[in-house]
Parts: sequence; structure tokens; C-alpha cells
Amino acid sequence: MGFTFKQFVKKNALLLATVSGVVLGIVLGIAMREANLSQLDIAYFSFPGDILLRMLKMMILPLIVCSLITGVATLDQKASGKLGALAVTYYMTTTLIAVIIGIVLVVTINPGRAGKETIDSTGSSISVEAVDALTDLIRNLFPENLVQACFQQYQTMREPITEERNITSLLPIVNETIGTTVGYQVTTVVAQNVTIDYSLVGSYKLGINVLGMISFCITFGIIIGRMGDEGVILVKFFSAFNEAVMKIVGIVIWYAPIGIIFLIAGEIMKMEDPAKVLEQLGLYMATVIAGLAIHGIIVLPLIYFIVVRKNPFVYLSGVLQALLTAVATSSSSATLPVTVNCLEQNNKLDKRVTRFVLPIGATINMDGTALYEAVAAIFIAQANGIVLNFGQIVTVSVTATFASIGAAGVPQAGLVTLIIVLTAVGLPTEDITLILAIDWLLDRLRTTVNVLGDSIGAGVVAHLSRKDLHLDSDTDDATTDVTMDKRPPSYTSDVFENDAMNGPKGQFSFTKM
Ligand code: ASP
Repeated sequence: MGFTFKQFVKKNALLLATVSGVVLGIVLGIAMREANLSQLDIAYFSFPGDILLRMLKMMILPLIVCSLITGVATLDQKASGKLGALAVTYYMTTTLIAVIIGIVLVVTINPGRAGKETIDSTGSSISVEAVDALTDLIRNLFPENLVQACFQQYQTMREPITEERNITSLLPIVNETIGTTVGYQVTTVVAQNVTIDYSLVGSYKLGINVLGMISFCITFGIIIGRMGDEGVILVKFFSAFNEAVMKIVGIVIWYAPIGIIFLIAGEIMKMEDPAKVLEQLGLYMATVIAGLAIHGIIVLPLIYFIVVRKNPFVYLSGVLQALLTAVATSSSSATLPVTVNCLEQNNKLDKRVTRFVLPIGATINMDGTALYEAVAAIFIAQANGIVLNFGQIVTVSVTATFASIGAAGVPQAGLVTLIIVLTAVGLPTEDITLILAIDWLLDRLRTTVNVLGDSIGAGVVAHLSRKDLHLDSDTDDATTDVTMDKRPPSYTSDVFENDAMNGPKGQFSFTKM
């Protein structure tokens, strides 16, 4: 018995350390709140957590670039097309289901019925037209400068074009004896600026243009994969690079439990008066959490079970560390290295699937964010006493889906893209401040569901494409050795005999023809 326990601890040391990190972080955070530290002291206290975030973020760019290029280049054309189509179908379906769950819950529970007078809010209005957000997404798919795309994204804003016009006020002339208006008198002529048109002004904002990197890397991967012998050296280069990056990730995740303690504790210490927030926003919080729970614990596992016919919770236990990292970091991009590591090391998913599907999923597949945005928009409508008609609810679901695709995998990105949803149905965007106080918590939870959705997606896609990957169904998620017997001749040549892809762990084994 003792031996088994020891074995269990040894096998799951990292996971146990991460779970302990979360628990310790919560306990420490609650205890340290008593100390009433200043914001400055809290910032110093959170320093080890800050370092974890920086380490994880450092891995995002090399990971996305190398994994996508190798992922696509090592798949044959038919398989990569099918994988891509499967992944996008899964992403769209699950995101729409998430939005629908959110809408049904928020309409039934009606958390905004208390009205906004009871909730603190301060804010000013900004609006983003859905069409501008969508065209920006497409613009970002084609970065004009790849180096710049590593740290900046393009964004357009509408600037009003105004013209000075004389505004004439007419004052009614009232006949005192009969008490009615008998005419009007021109009283004032005021020069005013009137908006006659808008111009689109483009600018760059900080943040990796992940969509642009994805589009370039996929194209580049497909091209070098089809170049035959000439492309082999590039495939080898990026594969070796990828392996090296994953080895660094392997080191970073051992630091994660320590970083997680301080990230979580720091956040709890920063929290405003929890009792007050709970009283004002408790029902709204409960609605979002219930929606996320239904989607993450019931719907997504059910989809996995229906498609793969295996226990989804056993599968999810393999990605527990990634889920906890999502809770601690509030960022699916920062969690990406851990997600890839978990699915490859614990769940033994085919690396060609994980490296192709996960970076894309972390960027565009955000079920939690979509659900949250739908609930938040309708909550804001309810708090303002506005009843949305069916057409407006459909608009909310469509824009929430696209807003979640447009949201970057960074903390509180969903709160920013919520502006698109609010603008689309004409709700006051300044009312985002109503839900700001609780967003730090909801952000963590929706990020967890985002990561969970990506992980299940990878499992589902790997299963459905197992034939194209030449795996047999019993071993679809139990092997890392991939036989590429249908690769073009160049991939089965001696070139790969001794390369990094056949490295110590035998991640990709190419069969000689
Ligand atoms: N923080 C979320 C993520 O990284 C995005 C959001 O704010 O909804 O997945």
C-alpha cells in the first residue's frame, strides 16, 4: 500500500505540487488580506508569480511558430486539410453551444433585475462597430511586417468628420389670451460641429498578432512540406527548434507551482470587499459560473465521450495542470506551453495534432469567453431595464461568437471585446464598469473553460483523423510514435535517420520506404 502511494506521488509529483500551489495560494492570500498591505507591497509580494507569467509568455512566440510550421509540414496535404476542417467545425459548434447555454441561463435567471442603481459604476462610453472589429481580424491575418507582428496588432478606429453648421432654434410664439401657439420665432443661431461622416484611422497596439503569425506559419509549413528534398532542411530545423522549446517548457512547468502560489495569493489580496461584491453581483456571478460549469463539466466531456467513446474525465485528468495554470494566469496563450506538454506527455496525443490544433485553438477557440460575453451583454441590458427582442438576442450570439474569436488569449481580453457585442445591440458600453469588480475571478474561470475546450478539441480531432494519421483506433491517443508511411519520398529518406524528430523520445518516427 505504502509502495503504491509512493509510486502515485512520484508519478504525479508535478500535478500534486500544482494543486498544492493553488490551495496554498488561496490560504496565503486570505491570511495576508488581514495584513492590509499597500498596493506596492502586494506588487512586490506577487513578484515570483510575475516571473512565472514572464517565463510562460516567453515561450508563446517560439512555440506557436515552430509547432505550427512542423505540425503542418509533417502532415500530408489531405490530412492537414481534414484536420483543419475538423478543428474549425469543432470550434464553431462548441462556441455556439456555449453561447446558447449562456443566453438560456441569463434569460431564465434574470440576474440584472435588481437594476443598475444598486451596482457601483463609473465609466465613459467607447464604441466599436462589429464590422470594424471583423475587418481588423482579417487585416491582422495578413501582417504587413512579420517582425512587427511579433509584438503589435493592427487596430482601426472610426474618427468622426465634422462640419460647422448653424443650428437655428425656433421659439414658439404663444397667444396668451387663447393659450395656443400661433407661430415660431427664429431666436438663436449657434454654430455647432455636426458629424457628417467617419474616417477609418489605423494604428498599432501592443500584443502579439497571433492570427497573423498563425496564417503565415500555416502557409509556410504547407509550402516547405511540399517542397520535397529542398524543404527537408527547413522542416528539420523547425522540428529541432520545436523540441528544444518543449524541453524549456518542461523546465518552466516545474517552477509553475511556486509561481502559482504568489499569483493567486496576490490576486486575493488585491480583491475589493468580497462581501459587497458578492451582494451586488452574486446572481450575475452565479449565472456565469453555472454556464461555464454546464459547458465545461457536462457538454464538452459529453462531446468527447460521444466521439471518442472513452472516459472524458480520465482524459481531463491528464490536463489538470494546464487547467490550474489557466486559473492562475488568466491567459490561454500563457497556458499554451503547459497544455501542449500535458497532452503530449500525459495523454500521449499525436504531436502532429497537438502542434497544429492547440496554437490555433488557444487563439480562436474560446467557449468560456463567448458564453461570458453573451451573459454579460444581456445582464447589462437587464440592469438598464432594456428588453432585447429575438433579433437582438441573435445579434448577441453571433457577435459574442466573433468577439471571442477576436479576443486574444490574455487576461481580461474578453472584457474588451465585449464592447463589440454591446455596440452591436446599442447597449451602453460604459456599463462594463458594472461587472469590472468581479472580472478577475470570472476571467480565470472562463480561461479554464477555454483551455478545457482546446484540450477536448485536440482529443476529438486526433480521434477523428486517426485514419489519416495512419494510426489504429486503439492507439490513437496512446502513442507518440507516428508512422509516416505515406509521406512523400523526401520524408522517408535518410535525411531523417538521425535527426531531432527521431530524438531521444522518438517523437516522430519516419519509416523508410
Ligand atoms: N483571459 C481569457 C483567455 O486568455 C480571454 C478572456 O478574457 O476571456 O482565454
